[in-house]
Amino acid sequence: EITDARIPQSSRNPEIDRMLGQKPRLILLNKCDVADPNLTARWCEYYRSKGILAIPTDCKSGRGLNEIIPGARQVLDEVMKRREAKGLSQKLLRMMIVGIPNVGKSTFINKVARKKSAKAGDRPGVTRGKQWITVDQGLELLDTPGILWPKFEDETIGLHLAFTGAVRDAIMDVETLACHLIQLLAQRKPESLAARFKLVPEEGMDGWALLEAGARKRGFLISGGEVDLERMAHILLDEFRGGKMGRITLELPEDLERGADPSGVP
Ligand code: GDP
Repeated sequence: EITDARIPQSSRNPEIDRMLGQKPRLILLNKCDVADPNLTARWCEYYRSKGILAIPTDCKSGRGLNEIIPGARQVLDEVMKRREAKGLSQKLLRMMIVGIPNVGKSTFINKVARKKSAKAGDRPGVTRGKQWITVDQGLELLDTPGILWPKFEDETIGLHLAFTGAVRDAIMDVETLACHLIQLLAQRKPESLAARFKLVPEEGMDGWALLEAGARKRGFLISGGEVDLERMAHILLDEFRGGKMGRITLELPEDLERGADPSGVP
């Protein structure tokens, strides 16, 4: 299951647990290049405490991808041993990628498929257009991902998905969305606002005040000395999505344990 390391909770569909049942699984915390490395490590620890192996990956550079096959082998070890104990031959093992839109499923499959097909053109099963890609001896990967829908019942989840661009901005106007994001950044990573907008959040400033102050600092003015909030909103969202504001993770494992609203958004 591929998730977005910046929003590990919101980028999962909780139904997946029911759908998978007892099937062995791996969780990839993808886009770890734009997530906070310490928090990614904490999320891995959180999953480990639940008995799930989670691996940080960056499918763009390929970082972490080498750990996937050993990880899959480790997770499947028990299945293999059971079969062996029963005297069954080692079965061909197959993996499928699942995840909500925009977490990097296609990027992952392309990266893995390209690497393998470049190396092993003479193996059947690796030819382009085939459904199953051989990724290791006896291990195949389905070349089309399973798409899950994000869960929207919760407003916070909807907001976090919109912040990362996983869902269209249309869920609300861009200024209101940016106002929620800047408020959350002021809480979770104020140094990112100082570094990027020279903006130091002060006590009592709400999202609108922060957005306006940021616009002034950047000199986004329209005639009459008014600030151009819309421009500021677009810039903030673009810079956050593009990783220009630094490596930021919006959700903590503690939020999940407490069942708390991780955004602090009223
Ligand atoms: P899918 O909808 O799950 O198949 O997602 P895509 O593979 O189409 O990726 C969505 C966007 O995320 C694309 O712009 C990718 O370039 C980008 N992306 C994928 N993996 C990573 C990653 O590890 N890091 C970063 N920064 N971007 C990524």
